[in-house]
Amino acid sequence: MPNSTVRVGNVEITSFSDGYLEFDACNFFPQVTDAQWHPHEEHLTGEGKVRFNLASYVVRTAGRTVLVDTGLGPPTADDAPNSPWGELLASLAARGVRPQDVDMVVMTHLHRDHVGWNLQKQGSGFSPTFPKARYWMSRKDWEASHRIEVRQRFPNAPSCVWPLESLGLMELMDGEHALTPELTAVPTPGHTPGHMSILVTSQGQKALILGDAAHSPAQVQETDWVSRADMDSNQARDTRRALMERLEREGILVAAGHFPAPGFGKILLLNGRRYWQGLAA
Ligand SMILES: [Zn+2]
Repeated sequence: MPNSTVRVGNVEITSFSDGYLEFDACNFFPQVTDAQWHPHEEHLTGEGKVRFNLASYVVRTAGRTVLVDTGLGPPTADDAPNSPWGELLASLAARGVRPQDVDMVVMTHLHRDHVGWNLQKQGSGFSPTFPKARYWMSRKDWEASHRIEVRQRFPNAPSCVWPLESLGLMELMDGEHALTPELTAVPTPGHTPGHMSILVTSQGQKALILGDAAHSPAQVQETDWVSRADMDSNQARDTRRALMERLEREGILVAAGHFPAPGFGKILLLNGRRYWQGLAA
């Protein structure tokens, strides 16, 4: 895939994919009408669906290899045959990234399509897929994944996240957190209570690994469009609007994991409207 790697100062970001998910647009964005989609049709499939890439980003910075998000994971017996996901390890291997090369796993949030490859079943327990890594997540999401009223929002946390604690591999982040001198996790809440985006700053250049602050390029302009996956609608809208304004104003390179692969692009302003300009694939 051309342009699956970008450089930001001294930092290299490479896009990998676990596959994709598809939903009917009216199902995923229940409040958005067909007429509202009309000017954004280019972001729908021919069948009127939204298709979300399941990207993970490998960030190489100062001798460290950081994996941001771990996809949906291997399909289970409950999934449809030929599920179009479960490809992350093959995607990494194809570009020479071995599981033991990863020093840090960082989760933007704990929804199921971002934690799927954290662990592997081993006998009656679990072992880490990335054996030398420590695993970073926000404390707010960790706590939410255990809270009875909302824990159904984190359906695979019991097998993909919770065992990290007893394995002694878990690192919790309270608010903004410097992961390395060039990588900072920044709170972008709303989609989940502790949702984080990952800011890369190196030699005066910046990039942001967005996480799920937006799912479709249409939301660059339509920041009020709330998806059924956004846990707090109002907070998600506020975060999305503020982010899009800042990303456009500062010309920050964006890595958007659910936008079409590889998900790198910029937010531009034309005639008072913001739009997504992906780097040509
Ligand atoms: Zn997601």
